[in-house]
Amino acid sequence: MTAYIFPPPATPSLAIANADHRFPLRRIICVGRNYASHAREMGSDPDREPPFFFMKPADAVVPAAGVLPYPSATNELHYEVELVVALSKGGEQVPADQALDLVWGYGVGLDLTRRDLQAVAKDTRRPWDFAKGFDHSAPCSPLVPASAIGHPQQGRIFLEVNKQVVQDGDLNELIWPVADIISHISRFIALQPGDLIFSGTPAGVGALLPGDQVHGEVAGVASFDLTIGPKP
Ligand code: MN
Repeated sequence: MTAYIFPPPATPSLAIANADHRFPLRRIICVGRNYASHAREMGSDPDREPPFFFMKPADAVVPAAGVLPYPSATNELHYEVELVVALSKGGEQVPADQALDLVWGYGVGLDLTRRDLQAVAKDTRRPWDFAKGFDHSAPCSPLVPASAIGHPQQGRIFLEVNKQVVQDGDLNELIWPVADIISHISRFIALQPGDLIFSGTPAGVGALLPGDQVHGEVAGVASFDLTIGPKP
């Protein structure tokens, strides 16, 4: 047995709906601007851009439930509701027509963003890591197996803040559908079991404030309810 100088960190994991087993997490890969409406609101042309990616640490994933801490070092915490794709198989150079074989299931989560820090990073051509990959930045619902719900190609994806609908889209608006995303990522890195993909957000991103009540849902997949905690 390997001897470590201190006990190794716990394996990050997500709950599975109506089950005791948990889904162990490896990497969190996020797709930028994958709905045309959101690409336009962020000032780019959705017809001309190949998909691009960024990552969050696996332990940024927390249950999308209860009180979520408001992060330090920002005055502009933005929500982005996203379909989350959980892989239980890996692969490299995966053809799109085989890509869904890697998918174990789906959930709905938030790609939380320190938008003020991201704006500075964009202006100064610096990395996005601390704008995107901070602690608690990837709250996610329990996962639902594809064996139960199939591979959703359409369906409403929406977010309510204090019972007002702020984001409202449909999975059929994805510029790069899930199979294409998986295939594309697998050209750059070897996908592995436990990888989670945040598949992009529809238009309507905006700021969250302490005390906000947040409801996210992908119809036929999963939903969550959480409250934003006080500023640190
Ligand atoms: Mn996003």
